[in-house]
Amino acid sequence: MIEIQEALQIIRDNQPWAGMGNRAERPVSANRKQDMIEISEALQIIRDNHPPSLVTTMPLLDALGRRLAVDIHAPEPSPRYTNSAMDGFAVRWEDVETVAGDRPITLTIAGESQAGIPFSGTCRSGQAIRISTGAMLPKGADTVVRVEDTQTEESRVTVLQARKKGQDIRRIGEEFAAGELLLPRGTALQAPQLGLLTSVGIIEVAVYYPPHVSLVVTGTELAVPGEPVAPHQIRDSNSIMLTAAVRQAGGEVIARHYTGDDLGDTVTAIKKSMHKAGIVLVTGGVSVGEHDHVKEAALECGFIELFWRVRQKPGKPLFFARRDDCLLFGLPGNPVSGFMCFMYYIQPLLRGLQGREFSWRTTKARFAHSVKNKGSRTNFMRIAVRKEKSGFINAEVLKKQGSHMLGSIAQADGFIIVEPGQVLPEGSWQDVYLFPWRM
Ligand code: AMP
Ligand code: MG
Repeated sequence: MIEIQEALQIIRDNQPWAGMGNRAERPVSANRKQDMIEISEALQIIRDNHPPSLVTTMPLLDALGRRLAVDIHAPEPSPRYTNSAMDGFAVRWEDVETVAGDRPITLTIAGESQAGIPFSGTCRSGQAIRISTGAMLPKGADTVVRVEDTQTEESRVTVLQARKKGQDIRRIGEEFAAGELLLPRGTALQAPQLGLLTSVGIIEVAVYYPPHVSLVVTGTELAVPGEPVAPHQIRDSNSIMLTAAVRQAGGEVIARHYTGDDLGDTVTAIKKSMHKAGIVLVTGGVSVGEHDHVKEAALECGFIELFWRVRQKPGKPLFFARRDDCLLFGLPGNPVSGFMCFMYYIQPLLRGLQGREFSWRTTKARFAHSVKNKGSRTNFMRIAVRKEKSGFINAEVLKKQGSHMLGSIAQADGFIIVEPGQVLPEGSWQDVYLFPWRM
């Protein structure tokens, strides 16, 4: 005979999965027997449940800062036509090849090729065609002599110097041929890439969709930012902070709902959020208190729990669930805890959804003092880093690490992960995680 909890769990684990995710046909969950899972397991579960990236086509300027979802091949060569690199005269090399300092040659100016107004005829032997930078090279000509290497008198030009055949000509396709790979998938579209695409006639591009996130902010004690705050209330700082963090990771917060610590209201708020967004971030109400309803509300909304509680500090109550392709994170309400969970788990996920690696910015830093984790959970310690003139990066663990102390993240440049019992000796070099906007 098995216990009813085990029976329930087996049914949950075997529920057919409607998700279309290419990574996981059904949710991949933690081993439920454990009370808390390790951070590596939590990460793996998130990666295994990572929904497919969405792709959308946007006009170039709207795509600024986004990543290409496809390889872009040149639809035409560059330059598009052979043209002059200088203001001067288009000539035939055979006419000017004997020019040296003391043996100038005089040619007849037979016309002009202006940028935008090409010469319609052919440059014949003994002729020169006046030409401006970027103008099409006339038929018959194969070389440009620069204005400063000539003397002009009425309709005749004397060539004083000719360097080599083909000089000062930009040949069709010399930069790239039609069909060549211009920008690979994953390229970040900044001003130069937009310029390049425009130059070959592309006006819109397929980019990774900015992941849509909605926030559900729980807590009866919360005052909305900007509104009066009673003595027993605290200001909701999480929603602004998380909205900003989502944006900085390339996502968009499309909705925000507030709810008190009430199961029914939390269910309503999650329901409103989950249909529009790929990711629902709920803050607060995910711990073991009597007024913590987020887990139950999520299950009632059809989410399947993938893990709850991670052996980490801060952020132990982190909850992760999935309903089809919608992911839900229950972040602890303590601002530092929620933020650290965001940085370690959600930020790389948002990157991954935009065609980048599921990864963080890391560097090696030298610790000015020894660091020890005396606790029993993996510790995300906030650090400040400083780049020395020598190029060395020094790091120190910040003093006030309380999970309610926003100052400790406002001063931080990143964090270091220290395992229980681990001691990092003074002067040792360690891998540290940097907040994306630092250095
Ligand atoms: P909870 O996770 O709901 O138990 O909340 C833990 C702590 O975080 C409590 O002190 C809450 O008042 C605080 N808290 C919860 N939500 C927020 C929020 N949106 N902004 C700032 N602090 C919060
Ligand atoms: Mg709460």
